[in-house]
Amino acid sequence: MSCAFTLDHYRELLGAARAGGYRFATFEAPPGRGDLILRHDVDLSLDAALRMAELEAEEGATATYFLMTESVFYNLASPEGASALARLRGLGHRVGLHAVYPDAALDERFDPVVAWHNPDPEYMTAAVPGAVNVMQDGWFDPPTYRSDSNQRWRFGCPHEELRAGAFPWLQLLTHPEIWVYPGSTMGQTMRAMLDAERERRLEQLAEDRIDLT
Ligand SMILES: [Zn+2]
Ligand SMILES: [Zn+2]
Repeated sequence: MSCAFTLDHYRELLGAARAGGYRFATFEAPPGRGDLILRHDVDLSLDAALRMAELEAEEGATATYFLMTESVFYNLASPEGASALARLRGLGHRVGLHAVYPDAALDERFDPVVAWHNPDPEYMTAAVPGAVNVMQDGWFDPPTYRSDSNQRWRFGCPHEELRAGAFPWLQLLTHPEIWVYPGSTMGQTMRAMLDAERERRLEQLAEDRIDLT
């Protein structure tokens, strides 16, 4: 099994977790033995989030998607954003706020759970009034946390440990863009995402009655 950042390997990861006896958990309660919390910070692409969400639904997995209200890359308030959020809910996933410090204003679109975007150490693990901070005590502990940031596992791809049931529980942070678009480096993957984005933008321009001849 090669640990490529592809949807095929993501599916294998979910299978490994099932084989290891894990159950898919959310942030509603602090994790206990056997819980696997699938966390997705959606930094760049709602399309990528939806593709990952569909795959998880096929595999019987529930995840928590953290969406931004202040992203420069997508607009959650647009019809496209609202329908992406509704689709994530429809697939049975949870939706939290991917917040930009210090603004953690939750509204009815979100469960009361916050993940800071690119947090500084000073507030990373601090409590957030009225919400769970995904990095607060009880939900976060370095030995039971893995992240794919910038297409690099800091402590290795967890599929083997999941299959072996080696984690008491795990919070697994993955960024959908990294898995959905092809590329063996973050630079390649980002360029593939931009190519796909260009096609999507051309369709949107046509829908907006822009003459593209
Ligand atoms: Zn792997
Ligand atoms: Zn982020």
